Amino acid sequence: MAENYLDRLNEQQRAAVEYCDGPQLVIAGAGSGKTRVLTYKIVHLLRLGFEPWRILALTFTNKAAREMRERIEELVGRETASKLWMGTFHSIFARILRSNAELIGFKSNFTIYDSADSKSLVKTIVKDMQLDEKIYKPAAVISAISGAKNALVSPEDYAISRDVIEADRRAKRPEMYAVYRAYRDRCVASGAMDFDDLLYYTNVLLRDNPDVLRHYREFFRYVLVDEYQDTNFAQHVIVTQLTRESGKLCVVGDDAQSIYSFRGANIRNILDLRHTYTDLSTFKLERNYRSTRNIINAAGSLIDKNRDQIPKQVYSENEKGVPIEVVKCYSDFEEAYQVASRVSQLKMRSGDSAEEFAILYRTNAQSRVLEEALRKRNVPYRIYGGLSFYQRKEVKDAIAYFRMALNPDDDEALKRIINFPARGIGETTVNRLVRRAIDDNVSIWTVIQQPDLHPAGLNAGTMRKLDAFAGLIAGFVQSNRSGDDASVLATEIIDRTGLFTMLLHDNTPESISKQDNLQELLNGVKEFVETRTEEGNSATGLADFMAEVSLATDQDSDSDSDEERVTLMTVHAAKGLEFNNVFVVGVEEELFPSAMAQDSPAQIEEERRLMYVAITRARKFCMLSYAGSRFRNGQTVACRPSRFLGDIDPEFLRLSTNDVLGASAPKVRPTVNYAASMAGSARSLNSLRSPGITAPRPVSSRQATTAGATASSAAGGDYTVHSVGELSENMRIEHAKFGGGLIVKIDSSGPDARITVKFDSTDERTLMLKFAKFAIV
Ligand code: ATP
Ligand code: MG
Repeated sequence: MAENYLDRLNEQQRAAVEYCDGPQLVIAGAGSGKTRVLTYKIVHLLRLGFEPWRILALTFTNKAAREMRERIEELVGRETASKLWMGTFHSIFARILRSNAELIGFKSNFTIYDSADSKSLVKTIVKDMQLDEKIYKPAAVISAISGAKNALVSPEDYAISRDVIEADRRAKRPEMYAVYRAYRDRCVASGAMDFDDLLYYTNVLLRDNPDVLRHYREFFRYVLVDEYQDTNFAQHVIVTQLTRESGKLCVVGDDAQSIYSFRGANIRNILDLRHTYTDLSTFKLERNYRSTRNIINAAGSLIDKNRDQIPKQVYSENEKGVPIEVVKCYSDFEEAYQVASRVSQLKMRSGDSAEEFAILYRTNAQSRVLEEALRKRNVPYRIYGGLSFYQRKEVKDAIAYFRMALNPDDDEALKRIINFPARGIGETTVNRLVRRAIDDNVSIWTVIQQPDLHPAGLNAGTMRKLDAFAGLIAGFVQSNRSGDDASVLATEIIDRTGLFTMLLHDNTPESISKQDNLQELLNGVKEFVETRTEEGNSATGLADFMAEVSLATDQDSDSDSDEERVTLMTVHAAKGLEFNNVFVVGVEEELFPSAMAQDSPAQIEEERRLMYVAITRARKFCMLSYAGSRFRNGQTVACRPSRFLGDIDPEFLRLSTNDVLGASAPKVRPTVNYAASMAGSARSLNSLRSPGITAPRPVSSRQATTAGATASSAAGGDYTVHSVGELSENMRIEHAKFGGGLIVKIDSSGPDARITVKFDSTDERTLMLKFAKFAIV
C-alpha cells in the first residue's frame, strides 16, 4: 500500500481524511478535492484495518464509481479494491434487494424495468382504465409516481394524502392514485422493479425487517457518499438508517451544485444531517486545484447571483489563464461548425488529447448538429446519453428474450417479443391475454401457461402458436436453470428465436448495422464471461450479465473503442468530471435557462447552479456560445443570449464574434475585448439581459474587427427574401439556418430563380430565391 498517500493532500483535505471519530460532512466548492478526499479516505480506512467488504461507498453514476475504483486500485491493488461495496445507489441497492427479495414479496430474479418499460406499462394501464391519454400523459404519470416513491409514499398513503389528491384534482387527474396502485400491482405481478423502486423497496426492506436493518448496520462499518447535495429523500433516509447509531458516515457535497431537484433531490438533506447527527463535524476545503483563476472567478461571480446558498471561500494557486470566451453565432448550425473547428484548432495548438475536450449542452436534442459538424471535420467523438447501445431496438429485442429466460413473468419483455419475430400472435390475442392478467392480478406468462386461465375466444390455431411460444421460452428458462453460462445461453437464444436470421434476409444498410449490433451484443456477453472466469469469479450466468446491463443508464453508455474521443454530454451528466477544455453550447434564454424555468425564481437558481457546474468542469479553457436562431421542434426560432452571460463579471470574459469562417476567414481571429466592445460594462450587461435582442442580427467578420463594433449594434438587417438583381456571384450572405456562405452560382433561367451557396458550416446548397431568407453582408 502506498505509504505516502496522505502527502498528496493539503492540510484541510488531510484533516477530513484522518477524521474517523464520528459523522462528518465535507462541504466545499467545485474542484476543491471532495471526491479526492472520499477516495483517500477509503484508502485510509483500509490502512486502519477496516475490511474492504465492510466499506460502502455510494456515487451517482457508474462512471464516477469506476473512476474512484481505479484510483483506489492504484493505491491498494486490484484485489482489495474489488472487494469494496462501491457503486451507484441503484446498483448497490439492487444487490441488497436480490439477497432479500423474498422478504418484500419479490423473487431474487426480479427484472429491472427501464424508462421505456415504465412508459409502456403506464400506457397499458391508462388504456385499461379507460382514462384520457391526453390528460394522463405517460411522462406526467411517471413523474407523479416517481415523485411519490422518492418521497417514500406508497399508493395507499398517496390515496389519503390530501395535498397530493388536491394537486391531482387541479391537474384534472383525480385517478392518479389508482394509476399508481395499478402500476405497483402490475410491477409486482411481473416480478419487476423500476429504478425508483430500487430505492423505495430498500427502504421498505430496512423499515419492516429490523433484523435485516441490524445486519446491514453492523455489516457496513463505514459509509461514504459523494455528491450528497443530489440525494433524494429515499436515499437520505436509507443512508441515515444505516449509520444513525454508529455515526460512521462521511458525506461530501456542494450546495452550489445541486441540480436534480426535478428528481426530488433536496439540498435540505445536507442541512438535515445536523439534526440527525448532533455530533456532526463539518469540514471545509477552500483551495481549488482544478481550474485557472479566471475560470474559478467567473464561476464564482455567476453563482454569487443566487440568493440561496451556503457561503464558501475559494482560492487557487493555479495560473490566471485565459478569459472565458463568449461566442455569438448566427445559427445552431454555425455554432456547431464553430465549436468543431475550435476543437480541432485547439487540439493542434495545445497538444491535448481528444479526451480533454468536452462539449456540454442543456438538452440531448442539441447533440445532432454537433455530431454532424464533428463528423465533417473527422473529429472522433463519444456521446453520453441519447440512444445508448442497450437502447437500440434490435438489442432491446434480444435483451427482452434474455429477460424472459430469467423471469418469464416480466410482462413488458413478453409484450415486446410475443410476436417478434412475427409468429402470428395478433394484437387482439395479446390484448385479451393482458386483460385476463390484469383481472386476475397475475402475469401474462401465467395466463399463457395455464389453460384454465385462457381468455375465451382463442381459436385452435392461436392456441398452437401460443403453445409454440411458451415452449420456446420454457426451453430458455430450462437452459438457464441448468447452469449454462451467459454466452452459451445468449447464443442459443439469438439462434433459436430467429432474430438474427430474420435480419439476414434483409440486406439493407440498416439491417447490416443491426446484425453488427447483435453480434456486438454476443461479443459483449462472451467478454463478460471470459473476464469473470479469469478473475476466478463463477458468477457467469445470464442473470449476472443482466445485473450489469439493466443498470447501465444512458449517461453511462461508453464506447468500447480505445480511440481517443471528444466527449459530448448534457451538463447533468458531466457532474463531477473534469476536462482541460470545455465548450458550453446553446447559452440562450429558453434553453439555458430552460423555458420551463422561466416563471420560477427557484428554478432559475437551479439552472444557474447547472451553469456553474458546466463552467467548473474546465481546467484551462472554457467557451460559451449562443446562436441567433436555432432549429427547435421542427422550426427555426430566434434566440436571445442567456441572462447567465450577464451574470458573469465581464472582467473574466472575452467576446469573440463570428470568426474562423472557413477559407474566407481572416487569418487572425478577430477577438474583441468583451467589456470594451460593449462600450462599458453596464451597457454590455444590460444588452445581454435585455429581452430586446429577439431576431438574429448578422455581424460580418469584417465588421467585427472594427473597433467598437458590438454584438447588438451590428449593421445588417433581418433575414429577408432577395431578388436576382440584388445578388452577384462571390457575394457573402448570412442565412438564418445555415449561417455564413458564399454565392457560387446564380441561376435565373427557369421560372424560379435559384442560387447555389457554399455555406461555411454545411455543404453547397441550392436555394429558391422566392423562399430563401438571408442577409447580404
Ligand atoms: P466537484 O465538485 O466538481 O465534484 P471535487 O471537489 O470533487 O469537484 P475533485 O474532483 O476531487 O474535486 O478534485 C479536482 C481536481 O483537483 C482533481 O483533478 C484532483 O485530482 C485535483 N486535486 C485535488 N486535491 C489535490 C491535491 N491536494 N493535490 C493535487 N491535486 C489535487
Ligand atoms: Mg467530485
